[in-house]
Amino acid sequence: MGDGLIAAVGTLGPGGRPLVPHHRGNLERRKAVPAVRSDRSARRSLCTPRPRTPTSYLLIFYLVLPLSASRIGKEVGAAKAEETTSGFLFPAFVSLINFVQTLHAQTELRLARAAARLPDPGSALLLTPGADLWYLTGFEHSHAGERLLALVLRQDGSSDWIVPAMNVPQVEPHRVAGQALRAWTDAETFGPALAAAVRGTPTVYFDEEARAGFLLDLLALPNAPAARRSGEILRGLRLCKDTAELAAMRASARVVDDAIPEAVAFCRAGRTELEIAADLCAALVRRAPAATVAFTIVAGGPHSALPHHETGIRPLEPGDVVILDFGVRLHGYLSDITVTCSVGDPRDPEVSRVYRTVWEAQQQAIAAIRPGVPCRDVDAAARSHIQAAGYGEQFLHRTGHGLGIQVHEPPYLVGNNDELLEEGMVFSIEPGIYLADRFGVRLEVIASVTADGVALLNAPSAADIRT
Ligand code: ZN
Ligand code: ZN
Repeated sequence: MGDGLIAAVGTLGPGGRPLVPHHRGNLERRKAVPAVRSDRSARRSLCTPRPRTPTSYLLIFYLVLPLSASRIGKEVGAAKAEETTSGFLFPAFVSLINFVQTLHAQTELRLARAAARLPDPGSALLLTPGADLWYLTGFEHSHAGERLLALVLRQDGSSDWIVPAMNVPQVEPHRVAGQALRAWTDAETFGPALAAAVRGTPTVYFDEEARAGFLLDLLALPNAPAARRSGEILRGLRLCKDTAELAAMRASARVVDDAIPEAVAFCRAGRTELEIAADLCAALVRRAPAATVAFTIVAGGPHSALPHHETGIRPLEPGDVVILDFGVRLHGYLSDITVTCSVGDPRDPEVSRVYRTVWEAQQQAIAAIRPGVPCRDVDAAARSHIQAAGYGEQFLHRTGHGLGIQVHEPPYLVGNNDELLEEGMVFSIEPGIYLADRFGVRLEVIASVTADGVALLNAPSAADIRT
């Protein structure tokens, strides 16, 4: 522990900040919440994900997709996939052709599953670069901006790409057999390509995280189709993680787990939240060069009473409670953890009681997890304990959120969610108590639902960082 850090109070997690991932770089650049205005440039320079290198890109496919491919091969029953899968686990012996064939087999399977979920004859799914498109095709791109780059998938299983001409070489490797590609130039604009792609389509399930301008363009077309949320199609596909996805998430979780002692040691009096965040980002990348930092929240003193504080320039003071909430993306999948510590002895005499209450609430929520249990029951397990301790009004958010390709995705552990837990679901358990203008405590771990209970992907306990 660093100088001035007398008592580390615990580890925990956040309530959920908006962050939409997908391509590592993409997500952070598109969705990361900006820091306090004056700090924005500094924060970006410290935490902006590094561009993925060819090596890290291949690592995703070698380390993560192989397991998926193995399952795919069995599901599809495709001899081609089966034969490439076995070799896929031993990259040194795999030809590039087989490698690409296996990836395409996964893409074709996922596209077929998505098409099968389109309920209306002639309806279509339109996705732009983001988590859903990455899930279906492995394609990611963070620079499309105002240029429409989209995949249009129809109920009959056909699909085609709408691509800015300058991006065609990047999309080509992701095209599967029979897929058309309509390139458009800046001088032409994407309007004609979009109109042609949806002509005669009564309903388009439109990427709900795409730029609103694209949707407005769609609705302005003559005989415009009805628009519905793409999540209606993709949600069920991504809800339960398969073996490969869980392996990736465990690896991602290990990176943040291992960094906890170092993160706590960074919290010394006189250092600003931004300086600590910078050190934390550097430490995470140093530990896992293939990972990118997805987000960091450093909330010291009264800022810890704000569940989603924007890391700023306030220096820590002796006795401050500090919430550290951070995650990385590794092999395409996220981790998310929160630690609460203090700079020396906590200044506020109520800290220990609040911390103990939050920790006990977290344990009760974890104990409630098993297949068939409604999400609301897990929330109730944590909330009832906090309410009994008299802090019900200070538990300001749901108990947890799903985690995977995105920091926040279904299922949500909240009192109005009757959805039943299923094996393969992954979500945070992160109760918190926030006493305005004084301090806050939040504890977060990531849990996965197993066949008969629960497994924690990361599980730092209070004992891990207590001095
Ligand atoms: Zn978190
Ligand atoms: Zn979280």
